[in-house]
Amino acid sequence: MSQEPIQKYRGVICQCCRQPIPLPAIVLRIEDSRRMEGAFPGQSDTTRVFALRCRCCEREMPYLTSEIVEIDGVPKRRLSRLAMRDAVSATRTASA
Ligand SMILES: [Zn+2]
Repeated sequence: MSQEPIQKYRGVICQCCRQPIPLPAIVLRIEDSRRMEGAFPGQSDTTRVFALRCRCCEREMPYLTSEIVEIDGVPKRRLSRLAMRDAVSATRTASA
């Protein structure tokens, strides 16, 4: 019996349609640096605000880092033009 590992990702729940929104890499980076800042006293409970656009209802809403939750499953990825451009530049960097 092989059991598939349960995939989880970090995201927020849309305030409009209650659909999960996966966190973009930039927000994950902010969150990670926030954790490192947590090593210093007095800064551990800093809450940051970031704006995310929901892919379902297309509404951009402000979210707090304290609203980040773990969501079961794999984030749905839509290959946007921006993502494709990122992939191309990553390939170029790798071959350089
Ligand atoms: Zn939504």
